[in-house]
Amino acid sequence: MCKPPPFVWHLIGKKAGPTATILAGVHGNELPGLVVLRVLLRALGFADRSPGRYQAENLAGNLYLGFGNPEAILKNSRASAPSEDLNRCFLPEFLRRWPRKTDSNELRRARELVPLLEQTDYLLDLHATHLPSPPLVGCEQPTPRHLELAHLLPVEHVLTNGKGVMSETDIGTTDNFVDCFGGERFEWLPIGPPSIMMGSWTITPKRTPAVGLYYEVGLKTDFNPQSVALTGALRWLATIGILPTTATLEPLQNQTLWAISDIVRHKQDAPKFIFAPDKKRGFTSVAQGELIGHYEPGAIELLAPSTGALVLQNDTQPLLGAPACFIASPLT
Ligand SMILES: [Zn+2]
Repeated sequence: MCKPPPFVWHLIGKKAGPTATILAGVHGNELPGLVVLRVLLRALGFADRSPGRYQAENLAGNLYLGFGNPEAILKNSRASAPSEDLNRCFLPEFLRRWPRKTDSNELRRARELVPLLEQTDYLLDLHATHLPSPPLVGCEQPTPRHLELAHLLPVEHVLTNGKGVMSETDIGTTDNFVDCFGGERFEWLPIGPPSIMMGSWTITPKRTPAVGLYYEVGLKTDFNPQSVALTGALRWLATIGILPTTATLEPLQNQTLWAISDIVRHKQDAPKFIFAPDKKRGFTSVAQGELIGHYEPGAIELLAPSTGALVLQNDTQPLLGAPACFIASPLT
């Protein structure tokens, strides 16, 4: 197991088990996740301990609890600078680049977190929305293993990139990195009949796929969702085998599975973008050509490129090409 990166607690369980990571504050101004992480640390008895490595009698496997972007958390901002985003840095082309003095705080932090994410079997990355939205859980692809865990979280909506519309940069996220490079558990599977000549089986390693999820627990300034989100985190920890439980956790009902079908990108830099009053809330219906919002000053309009439901609206200062929001369609 790797040494925990700065601002990460590594709790070593008494029994064998998977390696799981919960992150909060990858975007520094998303407060509910920070509260959930603090409450989890308190519940496990480590609230007054500094980040580091500890034995945890009641757990199995290895649990890492960490603050994603400490510099942004201290500034109460999404990132250390408006043009930066830690959750777009987890791309091999950035990470493998020889470190430079000019590298952003976010890229340096991503490099610190990579050894942890590479050994993570299960990731739950806690986020919160800029504008009001029902909570949601998201993943890159809706595989059975992702959906099995997503269905345990107390949300009505599961959002995926099932249609593959996200660009390379947009998928430089923690959850996608864990899907692609996480997990160190191998099963040794026999292939073919035993070799008579050699008197042994031919075996091959098969990596157990890692499962990365992000969890938008509510509005970024709203502390109310913390109890629901905490329940979700505990259900997730019990299901993957970190927290002991004798109960069988049933999947929650009435979830809708969505795929991102379009990206609504800003068409200019501007001091401000104002969403239309009826288009602020997550999962609001929109028709192609309908007004999503306007830039100030100047009142230039941004129209919906296609029909669906608006999700993950972002009202921070608009930058040309950055997503203002996404359009999702039900995935059946
Ligand atoms: Zn976020």
